[in-house]
Amino acid sequence: MSLQQEINKRRTFAIISHPDAGKTTLTEKLLFFGQIIRSTGTVKGKKSGKFAASDWMEIEKKRGISVTSSVMSFPYHEFHVNILDTPGHEDFSEDTYRTLTAVDSVVMIIDSTKGVEPQTIKLFKVCRMRGIPIFTFINKLDREGRDPLELLSEIEEVLGIESYPMNWPVGSGKRFLGIHDRFNKQFVRFKGDEEEEVIPLSELSGTDIEENVIYQDTLGELELLEEAGNEFSPERVEKGELTPVFFGSALANFGVQTFFDTFLQFAAQPQPRKTDQGLIEPEKDQFSGYIFKIQANMNPAHRDRIAFFRVCSGKFERGMSVNLSRTNKTIKLNQTQAFMAKDRDTVDEAYPGDIIGIYDPNIYQIGDTLIGGKDSYQYEELPQFPPELFKRVQAKNVMKSKQFRKGIEQLVQEGAIQLYRQELNDSIILGAVGQLQFEVFEYRMKAEYNVEIEFTPLGERIPRWIKSEKFDKRFFDSRSMLVRDRFGAYAVLFENEFTLRYFLENQKDIELVDLLEEN
Ligand code: GDP
Repeated sequence: MSLQQEINKRRTFAIISHPDAGKTTLTEKLLFFGQIIRSTGTVKGKKSGKFAASDWMEIEKKRGISVTSSVMSFPYHEFHVNILDTPGHEDFSEDTYRTLTAVDSVVMIIDSTKGVEPQTIKLFKVCRMRGIPIFTFINKLDREGRDPLELLSEIEEVLGIESYPMNWPVGSGKRFLGIHDRFNKQFVRFKGDEEEEVIPLSELSGTDIEENVIYQDTLGELELLEEAGNEFSPERVEKGELTPVFFGSALANFGVQTFFDTFLQFAAQPQPRKTDQGLIEPEKDQFSGYIFKIQANMNPAHRDRIAFFRVCSGKFERGMSVNLSRTNKTIKLNQTQAFMAKDRDTVDEAYPGDIIGIYDPNIYQIGDTLIGGKDSYQYEELPQFPPELFKRVQAKNVMKSKQFRKGIEQLVQEGAIQLYRQELNDSIILGAVGQLQFEVFEYRMKAEYNVEIEFTPLGERIPRWIKSEKFDKRFFDSRSMLVRDRFGAYAVLFENEFTLRYFLENQKDIELVDLLEEN
């Protein structure tokens, strides 16, 4: 198969959602369609930590690293599917954001009983910044959910994206009959127990519909959508301006297959990526790509690290020599692994859109570009995200302060955790996007620098950078904490929205900037 054909069939995407919206359940159904797992209902129990004896668990054991937070690849019909997992709430981190740079489209799950939730908004914003196609799956239709029209307008208003419902629920909760599939012109009857009956709209007899009061309501809503709703436009979907919306139930496996089939049809194939020397097309013969995440193995018996690499152009072949642009050193890529693939553990070849795991003997950094041959260019720097969680940190043993400083300096340089010094007392404050980063930091300080550290949590804070050259330092206190970042720039860590607003109202001379918006 030609490089072009390999590219055309690849679909690399992530599923984003607020915890509990149904991401695990939906992912599991997709893995089942891809024949990666033999039965569903096995992945559950994630939260209690109790896994059923499942295929999934076997794979986890074999790999030694958590596949639940990595990549799942499988062939499905004419496609080659790569799903990149984004971790849920507890281990939410900058990795999550960076993972979103490695996909070409995104599925956003919304719980129909809840609507748009905070975590969805955060993740959505990152996808929006990159203008990638976003597909919406409104889940838990088997339950008494919120009014579908209201959910649509919430998506449009809160997230600021236009929507096009590909299907529409007929009734809800106990009176849920099924979905009216506008796009494929069929009615899908909900029968429970993972069963559905598909009837082409042309064969749905007029009397059936007329007799059915519930369907009558739906027809009224559909008319409204036809008249006042958006038009379906694949071009606008591709630009991330319009999100196709699917209603369904992951748990009941209802509407999932049609969703998946339609999604794959419109989801983007691997897209060109920006470098410091212009756009690189996936069709370019020369192999290239970049590292978007590095996962250290938390198990002390296997102290290795795995670099997650997105292939952006050309063909990867095991054993090939590549140039690491940052250092201009040649590396032979022998130890590479596939993640959760159907039938092989090591990858011998890979194509644009694929993610490979590269064994990292501590030479890679997040953002590194690797290129086949001797060329040297750099994939666009991944966006920086302002941290949200802050902790004061110190060495447990003051005798170790030299190693402590060295460790902090080096780990901060890797970019996943941010360093600040409080102006008042010069104490060291670390900031990160999520809790996981602090844990990794603590672990590595001990393992690599032999320093035990102590954290004092400062909670969630809103950082803002000070633009003004001169200002009066008396206005700051523990709620609006004045700090300097690692480059010496002044910033303020606000305790909450309220303290930020109070500050803005009362300190009109001090100009503040929000990094995220400047990116
Ligand atoms: P995640 O945190 O987003 O991965 O969510 P899970 O997939 O773990 O689902 C959270 C809870 O919602 C679990 O108890 C699921 O069984 C339940 N759930 C998921 N999908 C559906 C659905 O379509 N209908 C109903 N009623 N419950 C669902």
